Amino acid sequence: MKWLIGLAVALAALAGAAWYFVLDGAAPTRADGVFELAAYRALVSDDAQATLPTEVQVEVIGENEAPSFAAEAGAFDGVRAFAFPAFDVVGPSGDVVIDAAVDEATLQGMSGGKGHFDREAYARLLAVMQRANDILITHEHLDHVMAVARHPAPALIAPHLRLTAPQLAALPTYAVDGALAPEIAAVAAADFATPTRIAPGIVAHAAPGHSPGSIVIFVRTTSREYLFVGDIAWQMSSIEHLRGRPRLVGMLVPGVDPNRDAVLRQIRALHDLAVEEPDVAIVPAHDAAHLESLVSGGALRAGFEPSS
Ligand SMILES: [Zn+2]
Ligand SMILES: [Zn+2]
Repeated sequence: MKWLIGLAVALAALAGAAWYFVLDGAAPTRADGVFELAAYRALVSDDAQATLPTEVQVEVIGENEAPSFAAEAGAFDGVRAFAFPAFDVVGPSGDVVIDAAVDEATLQGMSGGKGHFDREAYARLLAVMQRANDILITHEHLDHVMAVARHPAPALIAPHLRLTAPQLAALPTYAVDGALAPEIAAVAAADFATPTRIAPGIVAHAAPGHSPGSIVIFVRTTSREYLFVGDIAWQMSSIEHLRGRPRLVGMLVPGVDPNRDAVLRQIRALHDLAVEEPDVAIVPAHDAAHLESLVSGGALRAGFEPSS
């Protein structure tokens, strides 16, 4: 009998641990005032139509696969395709690059050599960054920074980096041999604690949680609005189903979701935003299928143009 009770206790503990580390990921029922869409719109409301970006191009630098439950607690539908993209917001006021992706060594390190890396796409990203007016990253994790930290022409891109203090502080970790180019090391920090207009139609706003330096980027083009949300959610299903990453991911991958409660509030806010403002294209960084649907729907154009 004693062993039966012991077994029951052990099974209950196991079930509790499975729930806590793998299954629990529910967003709260309310999260007001997390993303200030009205403020973002107000900041660009005076931008003349002729100055606004005309389109957003996406370059998928790499691809990989990961189990569904890693992106969305409790989802066991198999394997999901993860994209590693960068974006170029194109228009008469110049290029604004969003995110600096992985390089080949980083992707293969992350994926155990199983990732697909597009060298030509990465070369196009490096080239576009050299002519961009502004370069933003959604956050300071390794799969969003390499074309900044390891750019072959740091002096050309440094004057255009709009990075916050936590983003800049992380860069030396990713520099080759830990030595960041002096031009990039000297970049002054931007502060997006309050929503900040970057260029015509473009606003950045701090959204810490997934990392200390996470931000969201609002873009209004001549035809659409976008919200680039980085890794708040890895996949759209997380926002649709109101479920964040399991605690296990934050334990296994250092630096992921140090403030998980903030991430879950943001997921609730994005869910509500998607319902109330269905025309705003929400763009998580790694959802390959969602990026493809944005391309086929005309919200994104596939591939960077060599010049604009
Ligand atoms: Zn991340
Ligand atoms: Zn990422």
